[in-house]
Amino acid sequence: GKTVIVIGAGIAGIASAIRLAKQGHTVSVFEANSYPGGKLTELKLGGYRFDAGPSLFTLPQAVESLFELAGEDPADHFEYVKLEKTCNYFYPSGESLTAWSDNQRFAEELANKLGEPKEYTLNALKQSAFLYNNLAPLFMEKSLHKASTWLGSKAFSAYTKLHKFNFNKTMNEANNARFKNEKTAQLFNRYATYNGSDPYQTPATLNIIPHLEFGLGAYFPKKGMHDITMSLYQLAERLGVHFYFNSPAKTIVTHNGIAKGINTGMGFHKADRVVCNMDMVAAYKKLLKGESQPKKLLNQPKSSSALIFYWGIKKQFPQLDLHNIFFSADYKAEFDHIFKKKTVFDDPTVYINITSTHKADDAPEGCQNWFTMINVPHNEGQDWDGLIKEARANILTKLSKILGEDIEPLIEVEDLLDPRLIEQRTSSFGGALYGNSSNNKFAAFLRHPNFSKRIKHLYFCGGSVHPGGGIPLALASAKIMTDNFR
Ligand code: FAD
Repeated sequence: GKTVIVIGAGIAGIASAIRLAKQGHTVSVFEANSYPGGKLTELKLGGYRFDAGPSLFTLPQAVESLFELAGEDPADHFEYVKLEKTCNYFYPSGESLTAWSDNQRFAEELANKLGEPKEYTLNALKQSAFLYNNLAPLFMEKSLHKASTWLGSKAFSAYTKLHKFNFNKTMNEANNARFKNEKTAQLFNRYATYNGSDPYQTPATLNIIPHLEFGLGAYFPKKGMHDITMSLYQLAERLGVHFYFNSPAKTIVTHNGIAKGINTGMGFHKADRVVCNMDMVAAYKKLLKGESQPKKLLNQPKSSSALIFYWGIKKQFPQLDLHNIFFSADYKAEFDHIFKKKTVFDDPTVYINITSTHKADDAPEGCQNWFTMINVPHNEGQDWDGLIKEARANILTKLSKILGEDIEPLIEVEDLLDPRLIEQRTSSFGGALYGNSSNNKFAAFLRHPNFSKRIKHLYFCGGSVHPGGGIPLALASAKIMTDNFR
């Protein structure tokens, strides 16, 4: 086995460490923070617990397969439940509806509440499944940077169907063409935000995403999202992976174009291979300063970031469930503000995640833990303090109106996360949640590969490289990286 250093204990760094340890290598993880998980962490405030970052869990097999790889039964270490209701939607015009994971029931709900013909919804879900079944094996499971991927039978099967993948329409164009009610189109357009993109720019190919929720299912880990981090971190430790916390890498040391180890505040640490889980833009700018830079990849447009208010609410709202969306009255203007004007719209779509609906001890009795989030641009030096103040007031006005109750007096504890803090705490460039956006049809090909083409023995994993951001893809990056590890 080889000596391997992983930079970063984000979920992809932990998954990479597990996979490499299982291959028989000696693995050390150097993490800048005092805790594992990066974006996938938690926050405790008074009697409340919050999942601080990701809140939506799909593809649990991506987590379970790591336990199976280690010869363990996942059920002994990580438990989750399938959601019957994937999300509650509230429109500014007064309608509200529930997205049921059961496709028939969801189609009926849209028919009853929005007058959407049932077959339109069912056809859209079928198209989403078609995209997933044809594209996922190619884009989510393989390196796009190896000839074998493009010569394999999966690629051949995809080439024959290219015209059906909708690369040339935007998501919004496709959704408006296939639904009767523009509110249904808005609901389906929201899936672009699952990887931080703009439905008015991103290709309709991203209509692949609803299949994750409506085909494969949305889930909730019984101990909260943070248990994804903790259960995998403990698995890595059982496999002998050594974690060094409060230990940021300062440089990746190379000699004659070969990675030789890293420098930290403690000095030089030698390794046969280096795996970088740190955001790749930050890694090139900070750890690989002297090396030639893949400028085109580094300069790709970034995904959106987030502004989150963690509110302990001293009341329970029975009309709210785990995932709740309060739509903007002007969705196009909202995305123009995020991606073109790079600022915050005054009528944003508000997402509230309430884990205490599924995990009662996350809030005191009779209370709820509201993770209240809006999408915002990544940090380019905007006046965030001013924008945050306005956004907080706009969000409270909107929620109070729709829920019929003044919300601000119900907030008993409060904290927040903004693009600056996300960047500070994880090194993600500009605090972008998902690395690059997918706002053009070439985006999949403009992500950094899972290995360096310039520096031998240097590998990359995580949400900023291929295949992309979000927990399932970050975990997929660890698998693709190890599949190509030599
Ligand atoms: P990170 O979590 O960014 O981890 C990188 C790690 O590297 C960090 O721990 C960092 O401290 C460390 N590091 C950086 N530089 C150094 C250095 N020089 N030396 C040592 N260590 C270093 N995904 C979903 O699937 N569903 C969601 O609902 C969802 N919602 C989100 C909401 C928010 C608010 C955020 C922030 C993200 C969300 N995401 C969601 C995205 C998801 O969190 C990420 O795609 C995923 O966690 C990325 O994991 P990672 O391992 O690539 O990187």
